[in-house]
Amino acid sequence: MTSFVKFEFTNSKFKQVLIPINKFEANQDDWYIGLMIKNRIETSNKNETITIKIHQNRLAALSVIYSMIYNKLVILKGADISLIKCISQEWSIPETIITEIDVKIQSQELIFICIICGVGYKKSENTKTSCQTHRDKQTVMTVNGPYFQCCGNKIDKPCCIGYHYSGSV
Ligand SMILES: [Zn+2]
Ligand SMILES: [Zn+2]
Repeated sequence: MTSFVKFEFTNSKFKQVLIPINKFEANQDDWYIGLMIKNRIETSNKNETITIKIHQNRLAALSVIYSMIYNKLVILKGADISLIKCISQEWSIPETIITEIDVKIQSQELIFICIICGVGYKKSENTKTSCQTHRDKQTVMTVNGPYFQCCGNKIDKPCCIGYHYSGSV
């Protein structure tokens, strides 16, 4: 007979999730929920369902629980990634998964469009040489190709170098 861990989500109308207890057997000693289950197993009857009340956001908390079961980052549809990170830190889940969360957050960063050069960029990657363009977009055609009127250079030698700017700070 399989026994279960019953997670009760106190702030959600979808209150309960049952997960077989054997899913929590491997490598579960180091995190908050794993330790809690272990302690409960020691103090309860073998085939009793263990109930754990969770007060955090349901989708984010469940994402962390499944990430621990499968030992890789699992993000349930609609779960907020920054909330997943907060709960993960609160529950002391392994650094390897926290790193996966950080990579995910980084990749979801907003893209801004530079009003100077028209290129899309991330604010975290914007440096003082990111934006490279010509002051004047007009070119003069010659036998060697187009030259920019502003500086007399070709397109690969921009005369305007600085930070991308989207109009907001
Ligand atoms: Zn120029
Ligand atoms: Zn730019």
